[in-house]
Amino acid sequence: MATVAAAPLLRLPSGISQASPRSAPLQEFDYSDVQLTGGDLRAQFDRVHTAYLALNEDSVLKGYRERAGLPSPGHDMGGWYDPTGFAPGCHFGQYVSALARFAQATGDPATRDKVQRLVDGFASTLDADNFPYMNTKAATMWPSYTFDKHVIGLLDAHRFAGISSALPTLQRVTEGAQRYLPPKVWDHDDAPRQTPWDESYTLPENLFYAYEVTGRPEYLAMAQKYLANERFFDPLAAGKNVLPGLHAYSHCNALSSAARAYLTLHDEKYLRTAMNAWDMIEQTQQFASGGWGPDETFVVPHQGKLCESLTRTHHSFETPCGSYAHFKLARYLLRITGESRYGDGLERVLYNAILGVKDPAPEGHCFYYSDYHPAAQKTYHPDRWPCCSGTLPQVVADYLRSAYFHDEDGLYVNLFAPSELTWKRQDGPVKLIQDTRFPEAEESELRFEMAAPADFSLHVRIPRWAQSGATLAVNGKTVDADAKPGRFAGLHRRWQTGDTVQVKLPFTKRREPIDDQHPETVALMHGPLMLVALEQALEIPRRALENGGELRSAPGTPRRFELPLNKRVQFVPWYTVKDETYTTYFIQT
Ligand SMILES: [Zn+2]
Repeated sequence: MATVAAAPLLRLPSGISQASPRSAPLQEFDYSDVQLTGGDLRAQFDRVHTAYLALNEDSVLKGYRERAGLPSPGHDMGGWYDPTGFAPGCHFGQYVSALARFAQATGDPATRDKVQRLVDGFASTLDADNFPYMNTKAATMWPSYTFDKHVIGLLDAHRFAGISSALPTLQRVTEGAQRYLPPKVWDHDDAPRQTPWDESYTLPENLFYAYEVTGRPEYLAMAQKYLANERFFDPLAAGKNVLPGLHAYSHCNALSSAARAYLTLHDEKYLRTAMNAWDMIEQTQQFASGGWGPDETFVVPHQGKLCESLTRTHHSFETPCGSYAHFKLARYLLRITGESRYGDGLERVLYNAILGVKDPAPEGHCFYYSDYHPAAQKTYHPDRWPCCSGTLPQVVADYLRSAYFHDEDGLYVNLFAPSELTWKRQDGPVKLIQDTRFPEAEESELRFEMAAPADFSLHVRIPRWAQSGATLAVNGKTVDADAKPGRFAGLHRRWQTGDTVQVKLPFTKRREPIDDQHPETVALMHGPLMLVALEQALEIPRRALENGGELRSAPGTPRRFELPLNKRVQFVPWYTVKDETYTTYFIQT
């Protein structure tokens, strides 16, 4: 554990003792251990990296420099980020965090240097009081929201880009934020009027992370102070569904604080909180895409509210922010429990939400809401630089950390994507090369390279949707690896260079009702993919959608289907939709 020079920071309240963060049973790899080598994930990863590498540093720092009385060249960013905008300078830390992740992932010196300049440029705007906000508006309206993002940005800059000034800057930012942070954790309806949307209940995750990185107990004390026990975690841990009516993204995000609290404080309550809430979201809040929270709000279950939302709003799922929160929670729970269903949930949101967003535009326009209203189109949020401009690059960089995990004895394959992994083991590195066209194809081949043969287990996620019989073969011979849907299939053997594992996950079509009050309003799934109609085809005969029904692959186009109704209706995976008009849910007749 790295430590920074001791300096007076915050007084440790009595009763707070040192805690020893422990690892989850499964570990994440570093961003630099995994490379995407092709396909749609890599293409989006590269586009998003390029977009944020082009971020104008003078513009990002402009409002901070103006407030500090420093020369402030460059154009205003506009939108939410402006000094007079909705959330001035609030997403600075997320841009830094994402660039640090891309820097480690790619080893690109230009990305690393950009992180260095942004951290140092920001640090030079801190005054004697270490005031860390762009202005008074940010400090009074968004104290926790902004601070949370500064914390992750500076920690990631330290950890993934090796920026030595990041931790001392974090210390100063933390000192400066004290006067503005709330005295206790507040939810939206009990926050003071000037901070209606501030999200102090999301703070602990990154404060526990700060404690792990620095070893400074002050961060541990702050993390515990902002745990949303009474209003949120305690009832969830007891199985009481308190989600309805809550702001969806930020409360899903707060569940990562519960997961991190479990890892740091070793209190089972926090694990129960996160697991129960995951189940509640999956069973009562989720669209077929894996998204949730129409109009950014969790619905009351069992009242048909999701179906009602289809024609009421175009704001079905806050996609970059929601996907970021969903990915993090899925990874914590997958690592803690070893259960593949969390990987299934991550995969669902990956292919049916975040992979399908429009690319960020240079002037700051950003995809925000997925729209499941009939005859929908993908659009940008009207305001530039919204919250989703901060989470989009973070979650896309995290594709790498979501693909593979490991424990002492074995390797876990969570995502099927063209990629290469280097697993640094005590007896020498193991390289795994995954060759696949998934999700255009149902097969993936895993090939090992290593200096000397090694004994370990390979665990491959067999998704719940693979109901018609997944198969695994080693070096061309089918093996009995108990490849049942909804678990990791395990292969333990002495592996050597050239060994290959062929995975086949047959896609089948299935219909998923939108909620339990509307069993005839369905989305159409094909393997992991949500298919949408490029029409306003609201009523479809039941037999046409059944597996083996009239929906057929369009000739020569692997991801396109046709249904002969009164005319030929085209179906495509949502993530491949560009500017076409599409419909997600159908009434089966
Ligand atoms: Zn957002």
